[in-house]
Amino acid sequence: MINVQTLTLGPMYNNTYIITDEVTGDVAVVDPSFRLRALLESVDSMKYKVKLILLTHRHFDHLLGAAALKELTGAKIAIHALDKDGLTDPEISRAAFQGRLSADVQTPVSADIHLTDGDLLYLGKTEIEVLHTPGHTEGSVCFMIGNALFSGDTLFAGDIGRTDLPTGDMDDMRRSLRNIAARPGIGAVYPGHGEATTLAAELANNPYLNGEC
Ligand SMILES: [Zn+2]
Ligand SMILES: [Zn+2]
Repeated sequence: MINVQTLTLGPMYNNTYIITDEVTGDVAVVDPSFRLRALLESVDSMKYKVKLILLTHRHFDHLLGAAALKELTGAKIAIHALDKDGLTDPEISRAAFQGRLSADVQTPVSADIHLTDGDLLYLGKTEIEVLHTPGHTEGSVCFMIGNALFSGDTLFAGDIGRTDLPTGDMDDMRRSLRNIAARPGIGAVYPGHGEATTLAAELANNPYLNGEC
């Protein structure tokens, strides 16, 4: 069993998820980004328990906190191989195009684990399955933990991620959404932005999943 804590931080309302394996107390952090201090305060009491930093994709608003969190905790950073260069190149992460949020805000750090579809990671005894879901970026992934799906910028409550940024592709996105919809056992969906939802609710109401568009 896992416990999921949600922190919604920064100007783009990014959801950072703190996932705890309730048996071992081991912790994974999904998409550490803005306002690292608030995140670090949240994990301070368990900083030696943070084992994994799980990144859904290459964009700066999902990984700006990864370098400092790794330094503090020694956790391993995992990202899909196709998106890993976002960790070291602020043009690929798009941090370089954010004006005030200039490139030097991003501390380069290398990935420890290059993910590919179907990979299994372990947090204590909890299995984490990697679903490669290109569309928003070529290396976007969702993480399946128990019956919860951490969907990054692939799937939101009532919407999907944009596909007009570099390496985005609407055909890939449609395929990825079909794969998610066809997968048995998904209950809660925890997106990169906005409210948590369920796959059942999205199959009923999300126009990209219920056949309306
Ligand atoms: Zn994104
Ligand atoms: Zn985002």
